[in-house]
Parts: sequence; structure tokens; C-alpha cells
Amino acid sequence: MTNSIAHPEVGAEFRALRYEPDVVHLDSAAAGRASRNVVARMSEHLEREARVGGYVAHAEAAETLEQGRAAAAGLLGFAPHEVFFTESARSALLALVHNMPVEAGSPVCVVPSEFGPNLAVFASFGLRPIPLPITDRVGHLDYEASAEVIARERPAFVHICVHPSHRGLVQDVARLGAVCRAAGVPLIADAAQSFAHTPPVLGADAVYATSRKWLCGPRGVGVVGVRSGLLPAAEPLLESAEANIAGRVGFAVALAEHQTLGPAAVYERLAAIGQVARARLNGAGGWSVSEDMEEPCAVTTLLPPHGWSGRDVQGFREALAAGTAASARIVTTYLGPERAPLEDAPGALRISPHLDVTERHLDVLAAALDSA
Ligand SMILES: *Cc1c(COP(=O)(O)O)cnc(C)c1O
Repeated sequence: MTNSIAHPEVGAEFRALRYEPDVVHLDSAAAGRASRNVVARMSEHLEREARVGGYVAHAEAAETLEQGRAAAAGLLGFAPHEVFFTESARSALLALVHNMPVEAGSPVCVVPSEFGPNLAVFASFGLRPIPLPITDRVGHLDYEASAEVIARERPAFVHICVHPSHRGLVQDVARLGAVCRAAGVPLIADAAQSFAHTPPVLGADAVYATSRKWLCGPRGVGVVGVRSGLLPAAEPLLESAEANIAGRVGFAVALAEHQTLGPAAVYERLAAIGQVARARLNGAGGWSVSEDMEEPCAVTTLLPPHGWSGRDVQGFREALAAGTAASARIVTTYLGPERAPLEDAPGALRISPHLDVTERHLDVLAAALDSA
């Protein structure tokens, strides 16, 4: 089955670049597994820091870092001089809003599936979230009705998660971008879940992402692209001079690997993997898929059988990870309601396989769901 998924050679290449996993890893939406080369180049950089000092090592890595900036710029849809390294997606959002002329009490339009920690960032600036209208239970935006809300509310900005963290849902950012441009309101896109996973997001004034998820770079590195002129300060405080440079080197190496694998093939294969995984897992043991079966992304979220509480799902996720719920250890994510507080979504299990997933991985998980 998984051999018949688009671009099997890309899956094989992705696998060959990596250490043999000790678990069935279905958790790239939390943190993808880095390649051997990413790990090696980071550790080489740390060794250079120990041999020549951090500043000389940083200067030696300048070309790698600028190649990384240019590659990230391509994936974000910005020019290299509009792209800044941050420490995480959240620190990018904090820095963006800090640099924008927003007043406490202003509205900010968001998707109903907005990520809870992002809402906490908005609240820290005194911003009032206003959910935009959607067309279905899954949460796809209603772009025409959204245009009316945006025109009426005149928000400080519109913020969209390209994919939310708790459902395999893909929004049309370009379409929302056209709505925002017509209204003269900036659009900020959270690409934490879409970066290196689905085709680049175009049409937003700022887009931010993280290294560790679908790109499989190191933790503690994020990135943001900002259209020149969005932020009033001549030199906005976006990129720390003092940083984990080894991490940025690893990020650059992961970007180069993504380019070598072929972004278009990666996106097609990941979308096909989501469709195959949903078809395999939907209904197993009474668990049900919560997004559209055909949604073009690799994430599957499963709602538990009738009668399960969120705590039960969390316990099951722990048992899977510990290896007591199946014949192998299986790493997944428990999704609690705090991920999307505006929706009050029930607890669910997120399966986020990467390019190397096999039929056996899905069978092992399906068997565990059946006997849960
Ligand atoms: C993971 C995630 C973030 C946060 O990314 P960090 O790098 O941990 O700050 C933000 N938004 C969404 C939708 C996410 O899934």
C-alpha cells in the first residue's frame, strides 16, 4: 500500500538519511526526526566553537547561514533580506506583534481553530480575538463572510493558522490575503504546521514557522518572513545576535535536504500519506477521523470511541509511547482542548507520519486502536 503512494523514492531517500528509529514515530507535527547529517553538522559546529571560539566559528559558518536564510525565504515566500531567524514560532509572533503599532483593546481577527498559546500572546498585548466565520464543522474559513467581518471590525491585523495544531485542516491563505489587502488590514500567517509540509503560503504580510516539525531541523530555532514596510521601526527587533548558532546551522542543513528531496514531491507524498492513513485508521476500534478524509496534508486526528474522556485519550497516548498498548512503542500526540480554546474541541489523538511511514506502522497502530 505505502509503496503505491506517490514518490516512494522520496520516502526511501528520507529514510536513508536518518538513523534507524527506536520507535514507530508518528509525531512529526510535534518534532520531526533530524537526519544524520543535520546532527553531524551541528556537532561539528559545536566542536569548531570549542576549538576557535564562538565568534570565529560563527564567521566560518556565515555562508551556510545565508544559504539557510535564502532557502527559508523561498519556502516562506519572501526575499532573503525580509527573513529573520528566531528561537521558535512563538518568539517570532511575540516579536512581530511587539513591533506592530497595536493598541490594547483593539480587535484581532482569528480562525476559530486558533492555537491556544497564540491567543495567550494576543491577550498579553490586550488584543481582543474575534473569530472569523467558517463554512463547515471542520473549520474551513468562509472567505466572503470573513471579508464582511474584517471590514466591520477594522482589526489591528488578521491572524491565521495555515493548519491548526489539533486537526488536519488546510486554509487558503492566498484567498484570505486578497480579502485583507482589499480591506487594507495586515495578515499574519502561522506556518508552524505547514512549513515544509504543504505548498508555501503566499499573500500574507508576515509568515512565521519553526524548524523542528515537518522540516525535521533542530529544536529551538524558528523563522519569520516580514514584508518590507509592515513594521514601522527602521530596525525591528526580530533576530537575536546571540543565539544557538549550531541550531541555525542544523536548520540550514535541513532546508538544503528538503530542497534536494524536492519540495513538490514532498508535498504530494505527505498529502497522499494523510489520505492513506485516514482510510486505514478511520473506524478502527471505534475511533473516527475528525478532518475531511481527503484533506491534502499528512495529519490525521482521531476522536476516541464513545464514552472516552480526554484523560482516557491522554492515558492511551502514554501507553502507546511506553510500548504497553501495542507490539511496539508508538509516538503520537494527545490533543487537549487548550490547543483550540475558542472551539472547545474534545480530546483527540494526532497521528503525524513523515515521508518514511510504512504499511506496517499503520497496521501496528490500527491493531492498538482495535484493542484499546
Ligand atoms: C507548534 C505550533 C506553534 C508553536 O511553535 P513553537 O516553535 O513551539 O513556538 C505555533 N502554532 C502552531 C499551529 C503550532 O502547531
